[in-house]
Amino acid sequence: MRGLMMNTPLLISAIAEHAARYHGGREIVSVTADNPRHRYTVAEAMARARQLANALVKLGLSKGDRVATIAWNDYRHLEIYYGVSGSGYVCHTINPRLFAEQLVFIINHAQDRWIFVDPMFLPLIEKIADKITGVEGFVVLTDEAHMPDTSLQNVRCYETLVGAESSDFAWPELDENSAAALCYTSGTTGDPKGVLYSHRSTLLHAYAGVAPDVMNLSSRDNVLPVVPLFHVNAWGIPYSALMVGAKLVLPGPKMGDGETLYALMDSEDVTLALGVPTVWLALLQYMAKAGKRLDKLKSTIIGGAAVPRSMIEEFRDKHDVEVRQGWGMTEMSPLGTVNTAKAGLESMSGDEQLDLATKAGRGIFGVEMRIVDADGVEQPWDGVAYGALQVRGLWICSDYFRLEGGAGTHTPDGWFETGDVATIDPHGYLAITDRTKDVIKSGGEWISSIELENVATDHSAVAEAAVIGVAHPKWTERPLLVVVKAEGQEVSKDDLLAWFDGKVASWCVPDDVAFVEELPHTATGKVKKIELRKQFADYRLPD
Ligand code: ADP
Repeated sequence: MRGLMMNTPLLISAIAEHAARYHGGREIVSVTADNPRHRYTVAEAMARARQLANALVKLGLSKGDRVATIAWNDYRHLEIYYGVSGSGYVCHTINPRLFAEQLVFIINHAQDRWIFVDPMFLPLIEKIADKITGVEGFVVLTDEAHMPDTSLQNVRCYETLVGAESSDFAWPELDENSAAALCYTSGTTGDPKGVLYSHRSTLLHAYAGVAPDVMNLSSRDNVLPVVPLFHVNAWGIPYSALMVGAKLVLPGPKMGDGETLYALMDSEDVTLALGVPTVWLALLQYMAKAGKRLDKLKSTIIGGAAVPRSMIEEFRDKHDVEVRQGWGMTEMSPLGTVNTAKAGLESMSGDEQLDLATKAGRGIFGVEMRIVDADGVEQPWDGVAYGALQVRGLWICSDYFRLEGGAGTHTPDGWFETGDVATIDPHGYLAITDRTKDVIKSGGEWISSIELENVATDHSAVAEAAVIGVAHPKWTERPLLVVVKAEGQEVSKDDLLAWFDGKVASWCVPDDVAFVEELPHTATGKVKKIELRKQFADYRLPD
């Protein structure tokens, strides 16, 4: 017997309508290249999204067509999220920090018809214009007064395009399984792969995101996503925040600038901020130097890479800010786990709480996880056994765009291979040991680079650390610790190596330390291990 409930489709436009009706007066604050503090309301944002929707019709787009963005986190980008997806087109967010060849590949593979671009990224496009001839035109995200000169053809001004339209627009009734957004993985191995989110997956992910044990987001929050709108939809914040009516604070091009981030958080009363560890490193360094404290921030969601214990401790002890570590990936929309204490664990000591907080967190309802060994045999959740991590669920990709099963990333029984190696403890807390390709294979045993990095960054003289495997005649690979020293601090190789005594098994202690001025980072702020391995390709371990 079938249930007798309405089958209302889960659509992104429903968030736009709900937000305008219930939270229309809520503010959206942005830093943009042409305005250090732009502010307007949710009602205005959603009206402009509808104006944009009218303009898109006139551009002659058909349902499912890809409209790309190359832009920072600001209000115009947010309008495109809703205007494009809400109308049934696919919002393809492109990472501006990619190499030119990757940009060309992604734009052509996605078959983008129009590109909406921040003025500062025009030179990037001009350089590749002759290789992306399928693109019909470009919309520059500014007003007429700030339109830059460009050699590109068919260029429009965003404010003029939107300003010419009425805000009367009826969002179409779409199939909830139709595509809404597209984001390519960064392509550290081979060509980037396109993850194609549906309206349904996006809404279910947004619902899950606001829950108390996930982001704990409500209409009383002021949210600062430092994670870019081009990086897995800023972890779903543009949808979750508008769903509940939280105030959005968008940092524009000032993502890595500790001083601006602090000023934004302080003056806009930010209660929740989200970003990768590297970004928070910059913020914490700025605050330590300037003697500032975060009084209003309640919690921060940090993910995308392992969060150092010292970072969690500094937020907690100096700023009274709760760090919630999260784990996920582009293919997972991205939320997989978030770390909060379960009932019964509140009585832990401060140190035990810290130990727990360094884990990636518990699986969110909607995502199933399992760890398997090399033969595909499931491993126990005992916190010790490790295995390749596989997931399945409501917002996890079933395939990649235009690859038709060719990626080989799904098991025959329908689980997605994350490429991560992990343990899961009896309480269900996941700890990422490594990425399959970063794990150090020493004499048949696996050494976790993440574990060693965490120990290293807990040393006060270490600002940032990365561990890579380097060739070894007997053990195949041995760990090399690469370190950026904290400003004004000194430490010797021997002292650093001694720091590992008693903290990790003796055979896991790195064989050597290399000091560098800085580490190479990916476009999303993670250490680029591939690049680092290239840098140390000729490196020889001491005898
Ligand atoms: P990419 O880095 O390939 O562009 P994502 O941004 O989707 O892709 O990153 C996903 C990967 O980031 C995960 O598979 C995992 O290896 C790593 N990652 C994310 N969160 C964490 C975390 N909390 N701890 C350790 N690794 C993490």
